[in-house]
Amino acid sequence: MLLLLGCAWSLKSFEGHKVIRAEVDSLEHLAYLLELKRNTTFDFWAEPARLGQSVDVRVAPEQCHWLCEQLSERHIPFRVLIEDVQALMGKQVEGREGMVTSQTGIDYTQYHTYEEIVAWLKTLPASYPTIAQLINIGKSYEGRDLLVVRISSNKTSGKAVWFDGGIHAREWISTATVVYMLGNILSDYGKDPTITSLVDGGAIYVLPVFNPDGYSYTWTDDRMWRKTRSPNAGSDCVGTDPNRNWDFQWGGAGTSTDPCDDSYCGSAPFSEIEVKTVGLYIKNAGFFKGYINFHSYSQLWMSPWGYTYDLPKDYTLQNALSGKCVAALQAVSGTQYQYGTISNTIYPASGSSADYTYNAGVLYSYGVELRDTGDYGFLLPPDQIVPSGQETYEAVKAWAIQSFSS
Ligand SMILES: [Zn+2]
Repeated sequence: MLLLLGCAWSLKSFEGHKVIRAEVDSLEHLAYLLELKRNTTFDFWAEPARLGQSVDVRVAPEQCHWLCEQLSERHIPFRVLIEDVQALMGKQVEGREGMVTSQTGIDYTQYHTYEEIVAWLKTLPASYPTIAQLINIGKSYEGRDLLVVRISSNKTSGKAVWFDGGIHAREWISTATVVYMLGNILSDYGKDPTITSLVDGGAIYVLPVFNPDGYSYTWTDDRMWRKTRSPNAGSDCVGTDPNRNWDFQWGGAGTSTDPCDDSYCGSAPFSEIEVKTVGLYIKNAGFFKGYINFHSYSQLWMSPWGYTYDLPKDYTLQNALSGKCVAALQAVSGTQYQYGTISNTIYPASGSSADYTYNAGVLYSYGVELRDTGDYGFLLPPDQIVPSGQETYEAVKAWAIQSFSS
């Protein structure tokens, strides 16, 4: 009980916080919002990037009035997107039972802590002895295990794909969706012909919690944390953006050199042990044909490049598969995703995962932004985990089939 109270005390309050959505219908508005991003410490849930792409900003009560006044003065259309951030945070964990055993399995209708997910992962090799193998590929900065499940009926991975969730700590739905898909791939083996042929024909690698330090921190201290938890020399600000830290085109467009910024690229490429460990594992393996780095939110299926608006030489293939994935996803319950290259679809981002893996030879590399389009943003209610899992699973099947045949 004392432990629980201690936990509750240290969790940061977002009482009175709202999320404001501003529309960007002129270059002047865009310039103002970019300036706002540069000169304030507001938490941008959706960054200013281009005309017609709205901007979401979380504001504390004392900031709210000021920002709304600024926007009004400049005739920038805006509305309150999320009225009560704290209430949505509460709903995400309301009535949660975290128990995970080999008997109960993991409850897909709830969000889970890192420890609960690990407890579940450790049951998988015994539950699925012919196809599931747990690989500890290394440790996070704070010493948490980076646990990957390898799913295959073969000892050697002739062809393989990899997908992961939770690179950005607060994007809980990415981890929950990956957990759902992982569990379903395992239980569908021998039942679903597509899954069976994939698991027999190659290997599927799944890392549910890419950034376990950051993810744990969102449960214990700050629900809005995005980065890793490694300290920065000469700064009181902690953490690096793990999706700006990959060793390809590092430090270019769409990154920050300010350790206090949420898009801080780190002191050097691969300065973050989690990013380096995953990146080198994939590169050195040499057999990966597909990679997906799951995020939220915005409903976007994105291929390289992130660092430039230029299109890569495999753009036609990659974009065609994006179209297939998005169609498969939409067929489940009508959820619509946009697709295209990272830079042209959301914003330029250098040193990101999909650019790195593609450059390392993984043809079908993607960055995917899951549900929703802002009604809940990062605070998606738990009753959307299964629907998100179900639709994304169909897209992932289409992606894996194509990746294996490349
Ligand atoms: Zn993200």
